[in-house]
Amino acid sequence: MTEDLAANLVRVRARIADACAAAGRRPEEVRLVAVTKTHPAAVVLRLASLGVRDIGENRDQEAAPKAAQVAAAGVDVRWHFVGQLQRNKCRSVAGYAHAVHSVDRVPLVGALARAAADRGRTPDVLLQVSLDGDPRRGGCLPADLVPLADEVASQPALRLTGVMAVAPMDWSPERAFALLADVAAGLRASHPQATAISAGMSHDLEAAVAHGATHVRIGTALLGNRPSLG
Ligand SMILES: *Cc1c(COP(=O)(O)O)cnc(C)c1O
Repeated sequence: MTEDLAANLVRVRARIADACAAAGRRPEEVRLVAVTKTHPAAVVLRLASLGVRDIGENRDQEAAPKAAQVAAAGVDVRWHFVGQLQRNKCRSVAGYAHAVHSVDRVPLVGALARAAADRGRTPDVLLQVSLDGDPRRGGCLPADLVPLADEVASQPALRLTGVMAVAPMDWSPERAFALLADVAAGLRASHPQATAISAGMSHDLEAAVAHGATHVRIGTALLGNRPSLG
């Protein structure tokens, strides 16, 4: 398993490097976030031993105990919360997340800020954008992005760092990530610190890197198919 993982990691890093070369970008500009949902803490420890220190999770119920196990093993990783966030989970998420990629509405901002302040932490916040306006998969409308960013920027316990999106199912990744790049540029006009673009998963990381992704969130290409949650 560690050998598979090591080989998969080499392949993913090569894909990122090739995509950067094609886009005239430096590979250091793109951070690999390994999404370990459904995989146990032992997988996170193996990733860390291979030099992958950015770990993504999408459900607090799973992430919180996993983060505790990894910390108990004395291994330091950066946790990225990438799943839909509920207000009642903010307290828990603020306890371990170094970055929250999925802030998409104003009520979450106060809840996350209070929780972070109570714990003396200042997580990075990326605002999730719904590129097709379908609210079921999370994300705010592009038109609501600047007011949401203003809220985050007004909170001393949160660091506004950028935007995140998932390509809509029936769109080409190129179309999705080109729109996200436009939205991100628009946001930087009023919030120049918001330079991060979290975009791209196992099947579409090349398109994301071509359109300026600074974080790619990779699960299956590293870890294989997830067991179904059925
Ligand atoms: C699971 C997940 C990923 C990783 O997806 P893969 O296709 O397995 O690479 C990325 N982003 C989010 C929000 C996810 O939930």
